[in-house]
Parts: sequence; C-alpha cells; structure tokens
Amino acid sequence: MKYPITICGPCSVESEEQVYDVAQKLAKHIKIDALRGGIWKPRTRPNSFEGRGKVALKWLKQAGIAIKKPVATEVANSKHVEEALKHDIDILWIGARTSVNPFAVQEIADALKGTNVTVMIKNPINPDLSLWLGAIERVQGANIDNICAIHRGFSTYEKSIYRNKPKWDIPIDLKRNMPEIPIICDPSHICGNRSLIRKISQSAYDLNFDGLMIEVHPDPDKAMSDAQQQITPAEVQELMNNLVIRKLKPSLEAKSLLDEFRDQIDAFDNELIEILYQRMNVVEEIAAYKKENKVTIYQPGRWDSIVNSRVESGKTKGLSEKFIKSVFSAIHNESIEHQGQIMNKENIKK
Ligand code: PEP
Ligand code: MN
Repeated sequence: MKYPITICGPCSVESEEQVYDVAQKLAKHIKIDALRGGIWKPRTRPNSFEGRGKVALKWLKQAGIAIKKPVATEVANSKHVEEALKHDIDILWIGARTSVNPFAVQEIADALKGTNVTVMIKNPINPDLSLWLGAIERVQGANIDNICAIHRGFSTYEKSIYRNKPKWDIPIDLKRNMPEIPIICDPSHICGNRSLIRKISQSAYDLNFDGLMIEVHPDPDKAMSDAQQQITPAEVQELMNNLVIRKLKPSLEAKSLLDEFRDQIDAFDNELIEILYQRMNVVEEIAAYKKENKVTIYQPGRWDSIVNSRVESGKTKGLSEKFIKSVFSAIHNESIEHQGQIMNKENIKK
C-alpha cells in the first residue's frame, strides 16, 4: 500500500445494492485507495443493527472488484478472520472495542499467521497508548508486513463536541514510538457528526497523518448505523477537493523541525479549547446550583484558594506567577459573565 491513502465506504454494508451503488459513486467522484464496509458491527447496546454477517463479504468484495479497488472490513475474532480471508478481503481492521482487549487481539494475531493481508489497528476506546502499541506488537508478532494504525478518537464520560475526543498527543506519541507504522485518521468516529469532519480531516493532514478513512453512504440519513456522521459521495468529493493536503512522505524529510513544533502547538491549542469548553459546562451547572441555593456568584475565599493553588502548581512546571494569574483571571471573568447570564435568564423565566 502506498501512502497517503483514502479509504471510503459505508459504516455497514446494508445490502448488495447499497455497497455497489456507493462504490460506483465513489469511484466516479474521487480517487479512493480502498472501499470500506462493516460486516460484523460491534454495537454498544443490544438490539441495534449488528451487520449483515458473512453473506455481505461477497457483496463487499464484488463491489471492490467492480471498481478495481481493495476492500476493507472489521474483524473481532478468529472466525471473522477466517471468513474474511476465505472471501479474499484485502484489508482487515481491528476495531476500538477489540484493540482494548489483549486476549482478543492475540486470538486475531494467531489467526493471521502466514497470511499477507494488510491489517489496520484502531486505537483502543480509552486513551491508553501502551494498549495501542501492544495491539500493534501482537500483530507484528504474527509476521504481518503491512500494518497501519487508525486514530478514531477516545471515549470520555465528560460532555464534548466530539463523539470521541481526538487527543492528538496520543497518535503523535504513537508516531514517535513507532515511526515505521503509517497512521491514518478516521474523522467520522471522532466527530460523530458530519459538520465537524472537515476540521478534523484538515487537522490530520496538518499533523502529517498518512491518510483518512471516512464513512460514506449513498443516503446517510437512512443509514442503519452511524447515520449522523456519514456523508454522501458528493460531499466527500467536495471535502477532498478543499482539503489542503501536504505531500506527506516526500515532505516529511524536507519539513523543518519548526513546522513539526508548530503542528504540535496547533494540536495542543485545540485541546486547550476543548478543556475550556468542558470547564464552562461545569460553570453552568454551578450557576444553576447557586441560583437554587441563593448563593452569590462571586465567592472571594474560593477564588483566592483557586489562584494560590494554580500559581503553586504552575511554579512546579516553570510557569511564572504573573502568567498563571493573568490566564486564570481571564477564565474567571468569563465564568462570572457566563454565570450572570444563566442566573438572569432563569430570573426572567420566573
Ligand atoms: C467502524 O469503523 O465502523 C467502527 C465500528 O469503528 P470503531 O471501532 O472506531 O468504533
Ligand atoms: Mn461506524
């Protein structure tokens, strides 16, 4: 496989017609390197659509043959591996709910021994770099030459604009630990919502990722799984045409160290914004509580202790008192304003 790559296709293969239709439209609109489609779907809650099962392997493969592209599907156990290989599936990926489990990954790795299929390993659902590295090492242990990592974001309990937070520092660390492993980004599962896909795809390219895996459906709103995050073939064409794509491999050597650092700064700034958003969500809860209990917004004792403890912890990281005070004063002012608005709104309602 020559990177960078673009893999597109539906979250789930729903019917022979659906996968054939989307493959034809994709091939007509953009340069894809492989067609994806889930056959066995690991669903969070039971009684959701769990995929068509092995009958759909044939449909996926036929759709790939029709557009002369390799096909990719998810495997979660050795039986899946056997069935997929029997149907000549070219790329197998290990999903986030599987890469979290070393027993399951080892079972898959054992079933892969002696094959030359391409294997892609998604990050585990929880933000644990070692678990991701370990899953890759288990597949390497089966002497698979073509291995690629997929960054699909990390699950958190806190409210977030993302379905799975990107936490870019983790894939960057993976790249540092295993520079030989290409890493592609799956913006669909990070975003959970089609409106954010462009932003995340661009960030992935800005960070020198080796490609994208995007969920594309002929009629996304009618999709049987992940409807909100899927886009149409025309939309993926528009997205790919407008992405600023760096020449990844050749420019990697040429890219100056300064650029690498700037990409990291961009990623950390995005994380900062996400954290500030989450902090503000808590502020909103506090505002409701204070209103209910007739407590003033400003609590001087509490604020002094916040500033002192933040200054102390900043010092341990070499950050000056002046800097920490000015950052937290800006955060505090914004929180006060926000709380005021919320209390005011409730007043008007009553
Ligand atoms: C998928 O790609 O359809 C999928 C189930 O992904 P993940 O393992 O990232 O949730
Ligand atoms: Mn999906």
